[in-house]
Amino acid sequence: MGSLEIAKVPEGADDGSPQPSRPPPVSSPMLELQIDGLSKTYPNGVRALDGVTLTIPTGMFGLLGPNGAGKSTLMRTLATLQEADAGSAHLGTIDVLRQKDDVRKLLGYLPQEFGVYPKVTAETMLNHFAVLKGITQDRKEAVATLLHRVNLYDVRKQKLGTFSGGMRQRFGIAQALLGDPKLIIVDEPTAGLDPGERVRFHNLLAEIGENVVVILSTHIVEDVSDLCSRMAIISHGRVLMSGEPSEAIRALEGKIWRRSVPRNELDAVQKNYPVISTRLMAGKTFVHVFSDGNPGDGFEGVDGSLEDVYFSTLHHAEKAA
Ligand code: ADP
Repeated sequence: MGSLEIAKVPEGADDGSPQPSRPPPVSSPMLELQIDGLSKTYPNGVRALDGVTLTIPTGMFGLLGPNGAGKSTLMRTLATLQEADAGSAHLGTIDVLRQKDDVRKLLGYLPQEFGVYPKVTAETMLNHFAVLKGITQDRKEAVATLLHRVNLYDVRKQKLGTFSGGMRQRFGIAQALLGDPKLIIVDEPTAGLDPGERVRFHNLLAEIGENVVVILSTHIVEDVSDLCSRMAIISHGRVLMSGEPSEAIRALEGKIWRRSVPRNELDAVQKNYPVISTRLMAGKTFVHVFSDGNPGDGFEGVDGSLEDVYFSTLHHAEKAA
């Protein structure tokens, strides 16, 4: 039976004198998920994970990557739903790949495809999930509290089939939060939500405790910039960068250049400059270029954004491949 390792918070300078052994403050436990060299090749030969190594501390961690990057494979592996070929993952002292039952007791998982029974009410379904999770004590209260928390209490008697995409995702988070999990995995939660629903869902995610590990996998840069204090970018099963979004943005200072380009010149500009992204703004096409110095030719320097971090990281990885 595994136990959680709560790292001690250093207190004051170490002057060599013996320190009294005090329990760590409850308010700042530092649970960590450590992933080392995780690899997975599917029977069809697709190498979905290629030596993934990541340290994921408590708080909201964004795993950003294009479709097919390997995000779901990684999420499903961490959620104990599929096997890796090589590597390891530890949540505190728990060996995630081997002590599956211990992980499941601490896990809240919202998968990419969250199927629900359309004819069952939200309350009945959540109660059913609570039974499956082994919650026997005060189950009714736990279900009601969660329905309030995700703002679905008033519609608890409504059948899940009548819910909008946003309501379904909030219901998905409610079931993931059952049993006070310490590791919460949400896989592509905002894909398909309209802007209002996405904001509501972001606010809900932001309220999840700071003392749990939350991994948010997404291909939407905004999800990460709105919510995550740490992040990684993966592509073709490899980690291309990991760290703090703000630091990654700072590292781009003086390196992002922008110009509007008439459509018929776009090909030429893409051939001649290190274009990391093109985007439409008010009907005009703007290109963003990564360059240590001013490329001239009408380009102006702009502040980098997380989108620039993402596209320049993918651009450099592609060029290096
Ligand atoms: P993401 O979640 O980032 O879109 P996935 O983990 O779903 O990425 O997929 C990574 C790669 O593995 C893709 O090329 C995908 O087609 C492939 N893949 C995913 N699941 C399977 C599977 N069960 N069998 C074969 N290939 C798969």
